[in-house]
Amino acid sequence: SSVLEIKDLHVSVETEQGTKQILKGVDLTIRQGETHAIMGPNGSGKSTLAYAIAGHPRYTVDSGSILLDGEEVLDMEIDERAKAGLFLAMQYPVEIPGVTNANFLRTAKTAIDGEAPAIRTWMKDVKGAMANLRMDSSFAERNVNEGFSGGEKKRNEILQLELLKPRFAVLDETDSGLDVDALKVVSEGVNRAKAESGLGVLLITHYTRILRYIKPDFVHVFVNGRVAEEGGPELADRLEEEGYDRFLEAAKA
Ligand code: ADP
Ligand code: MG
Ligand code: MG
Repeated sequence: SSVLEIKDLHVSVETEQGTKQILKGVDLTIRQGETHAIMGPNGSGKSTLAYAIAGHPRYTVDSGSILLDGEEVLDMEIDERAKAGLFLAMQYPVEIPGVTNANFLRTAKTAIDGEAPAIRTWMKDVKGAMANLRMDSSFAERNVNEGFSGGEKKRNEILQLELLKPRFAVLDETDSGLDVDALKVVSEGVNRAKAESGLGVLLITHYTRILRYIKPDFVHVFVNGRVAEEGGPELADRLEEEGYDRFLEAAKA
């Protein structure tokens, strides 16, 4: 089975004030089928980790590596990362004017598989996935994320996840801006992908709420660009009660 290994990752960005170190040595190993929650206060570098895995050009990897079954992800172009089986759902999904959701999905599927999906089964798959996510069929013909509400964008990310069938998914604050009904629908989508294809999940979140629906096998507390503590699901329960203050104090000391 597949494994995604993040090793001693250091990441910085250029700002007007100069170079800012954000990730300061992150180690994380995710096996296929496992769900890892990354939890932490705002500004701790959670999204930066997601961007580094995605290959966002603003984020410079100064040292360390990201290995997918031993292959260096950092040497891959962005489309090669998707082909290798990585899926990234960003905290702020981008709008793509002039490209319909249906065309975007088909193009992405074709690029990832190396051949176009057979049209009839594909149409059926798209319809089925949209129904699963309680998305109105009109979303197929709308431009990607254009004018979508926050919750609709998150559903749309999970639609991509269900259809593209990656091996590993990084979900950055997929729970933010969702009401409880939408949260359930989105979580069901992730859980289906886990059950059907043994998806490995890196679930980035500030709040413990989503972890009631997507059960993590491991919880990592992220503070100041590092993993400050790791444990099982019980660690999320402790964070729910205690918050992040203890970790922030320890990071200052
Ligand atoms: P989180 O997702 O945990 O809230 P981020 O990874 O978004 O944290 O940000 C971590 C820190 O790095 C914050 O202090 C943030 O302001 C800073 N940062 C992130 N991206 C940039 C950027 N592109 N330019 C300048 N500062 C950034
Ligand atoms: Mg944030
Ligand atoms: Mg973030």
